[in-house]
Amino acid sequence: VTALYAGIDLGGTTITAGMASADGTVLARRNIATQSEDGPDAVLERMARLVEGLAKETQSTPSAVGVGVPGLVDLATGTTRFLPNLATQWRDIPVAQFLTQRLHCPVRVLNDARAAALGELKFGLGRSARSMAFFTLGTGIGGGVVIDGKLLLGPLGAAGELGHQTILPNGPLCGCGNRGCLESLASGPAIMAAGIRLLRSGMAPNLHTLVGGDANQVTPRSMAAAAASGDTAVRDVLLESATFLGIGVANVVTALHPDLVVLGGGVAEIGELLITHVRQVVRQRVRMFPVDDVRVEKSAVGDGAGLLGAIGLAIHGFEF
Ligand SMILES: [Zn+2]
Repeated sequence: VTALYAGIDLGGTTITAGMASADGTVLARRNIATQSEDGPDAVLERMARLVEGLAKETQSTPSAVGVGVPGLVDLATGTTRFLPNLATQWRDIPVAQFLTQRLHCPVRVLNDARAAALGELKFGLGRSARSMAFFTLGTGIGGGVVIDGKLLLGPLGAAGELGHQTILPNGPLCGCGNRGCLESLASGPAIMAAGIRLLRSGMAPNLHTLVGGDANQVTPRSMAAAAASGDTAVRDVLLESATFLGIGVANVVTALHPDLVVLGGGVAEIGELLITHVRQVVRQRVRMFPVDDVRVEKSAVGDGAGLLGAIGLAIHGFEF
């Protein structure tokens, strides 16, 4: 029986778990629906069984488990404080205690965006950087900051909420309660809402063809394809979002002067159009020092960052 490390990425709709060796090689992974409406106990039991299934599949037992959760968590105890996207919002749910009892090993819990940053740091582009700002661009915009090789956590593990910096003073209301956050302007839902508006108003003929007129098929990726094939209105929407993102990135570059900025999550799948424009905005807006040596890149680990980060947390604990 080999000792391996388990990672769990708890999402609003899906739980992904993986079993990996000490160098982060994922030997087995599985996912199931979260179904948070069943309540925390049922979801925790599901997480435990998922890891047990992976242990059986790899003929191993986990030496430690790392968990990424979508919200605030007490790092010392592994008890959740507030997970806004899960039913009942998981106030004071002892995740680490429950899973330790079920799986008989140490369990550490971290915010999912910080976990994704850790995944990029340990197994992605972050390996070659001393300082890194990581943006995960999805349903929301999360982030993580690495200074001198260390992931910044702050007293609540909440340091690096890069998606909730104000970009427009009187902009759209954000889920966090503020107005004009980067998340309200450049997240997947913000971009898709603009794409659907163009689809319905007849201003995106190529997008209409690509998705067969189905608004549910409009994604940042399909919008990028439509823009590339000549939908100028779609292209303008993507460039406007990229400008907002570029301003957010430029602010962080000004504050931290990192070697590396990484863009991850589904919205990064827009690809070159997004990355090139963000780089341009950073050059325009950071004027206090040269930014030629600040790399802005798409994530090397993509959708896997969250799971890899949870695995990294299992392997390294909070000593990363
Ligand atoms: Zn916000």
